[in-house]
Amino acid sequence: MSQHFDLIAIGGGSGGLAVAEKAAQLGRRVALVETGRLGGTCVNAGCVPKKVMWYAAHLAEAVAEAPDFGVQLQAGGLDWQTLVAGRNGYVADINRYWDGYVEEQGITRIRGQARFLDAQTVAVDDQHYRADHIVIATGGWPIVPPLPGAQHGITSDGFFALENRPERVALVGAGYIGVELAGVLRAFGSEVTVVAMEDRLLWTFDPLISATLTENMGAQGIQIRLGFEVAGLESDEQGIGLLARDGERLSGFDQVIWAVGRAPNTRELDLAAAGVAVEPNGVIPTDAFQNTNVPGVYAVGDVTGREPLTPVAIAAGRRLAERLFNDRPDLKLDYENVPTVVFAHPPVGKVGLTEPEARERYGDTLTVYETSFTPMRYALNAKGPKTSMKLVCAGPQERVVGIHLIGDGADEMLQGFAVAVKMGATKADLDATVAIHPTSAEELVTLKVPVRRPGVTS
Ligand SMILES: Cc1cc2nc3c(=O)[nH]c(=O)nc-3n(C[C@H](O)[C@H](O)[C@H](O)COP(=O)(O)OP(=O)(O)OC[C@H]3O[C@@H](n4cnc5c(N)ncnc54)[C@H](O)[C@@H]3O)c2cc1C
Repeated sequence: MSQHFDLIAIGGGSGGLAVAEKAAQLGRRVALVETGRLGGTCVNAGCVPKKVMWYAAHLAEAVAEAPDFGVQLQAGGLDWQTLVAGRNGYVADINRYWDGYVEEQGITRIRGQARFLDAQTVAVDDQHYRADHIVIATGGWPIVPPLPGAQHGITSDGFFALENRPERVALVGAGYIGVELAGVLRAFGSEVTVVAMEDRLLWTFDPLISATLTENMGAQGIQIRLGFEVAGLESDEQGIGLLARDGERLSGFDQVIWAVGRAPNTRELDLAAAGVAVEPNGVIPTDAFQNTNVPGVYAVGDVTGREPLTPVAIAAGRRLAERLFNDRPDLKLDYENVPTVVFAHPPVGKVGLTEPEARERYGDTLTVYETSFTPMRYALNAKGPKTSMKLVCAGPQERVVGIHLIGDGADEMLQGFAVAVKMGATKADLDATVAIHPTSAEELVTLKVPVRRPGVTS
């Protein structure tokens, strides 16, 4: 006999935990199926351990910069094992928190891998569980491309498992994971090369951000090889080598890290048994309400191929539970103007449209303001990285439709500005806000002269 629930969430990561928690709080009988540790990618192999490494890297940079400010320190180098043990302990605390919290909320936890038997039944090992509503929140896995010698490289999962700091590293991929891991390793003293087939770093971000990031990473001693399409890896006594499609070789790496994207975790779900449609790349298509093509089956988070970010998965999961169980039939997540940060050194942040995207949507009515400077944080340290900021405004009212930042504090700065963009703030609203001095953020409310270039009005 199978157990019956109001809702089953498959996957105990950001999206699955959020939908299960909310449904349980609304008094429903809920089950959560998870193969591994609760918390999913974000807690175990994503945002959390990454940000701990970023903080450590940030401290290493501050120590290196301190003598320029007259602060004399005796730097003792990095103790990788202490850092990793502390980081893993922190992650384990979060796992324990979720274990207790799920129990406290009265959610039935099922350990193992779920697969569909039909649209209302899932199997885990030889047990069957039925529910009126089933939410797929199985996230994704890091892609290793099917190239000769690809097994000589590791992925972001492998990075978090490293027991020692690699001396010479190649990061393949110039998206956010490649950029973030490159910055961390360089700050710890590794020789780092970023290799990408695209013609700029963070190619989905505004071109100003890519340009400043390239300058900053170059100044930090990171080698950047763009337009390099990896055809395979080879390993010999010199280390691991990268072979390009055009025959070029880069060799002598201790570690190669694939950061070429993530694929949805849908292969093991037997979606066909439930009739759930899936795209060839594994993405489960959903409408604006997270519905799949099968009534009663939903998908949230990375598996939907939209905005692969923890807060997006959480927000979609919570709204779905409210819609199903709290009489809010119109509730859905608005995927417009989702802010996002890349924890580079210093970090990058964006909300809304890039300048090229905005030009496509708004044409000639665009007004763009931008600035680049070395912030006061580096007043006594001339080699400090550059900060750049851009405001993209549309229409005669100059509504702010995009904000793009790179610089110290950009990560914390962006959240409040994202609220303003979401509320429809105009350039005049920013101008009417009194600056906080001396900060970098004040530049965003004191930008005066629009840039002049073809397609941009002033
Ligand atoms: C290196 C890295 C850094 C990142 N940094 C950030 C960041 O700074 N900020 C940010 O917002 N996002 C970040 N992300 C992205 C973020 O981690 C994901 O967007 C988020 O975890 C997605 O949540 P999810 O619920 O969709 O999936 P996940 O968190 O991946 O959870 C899916 C869960 O489902 C389980 N599962 C899979 N298949 C089954 C099955 N058949 N049965 C049972 N369980 C199953 C998995 O074990 C997993 O625990 C990062 C990701 C990576 C890889």
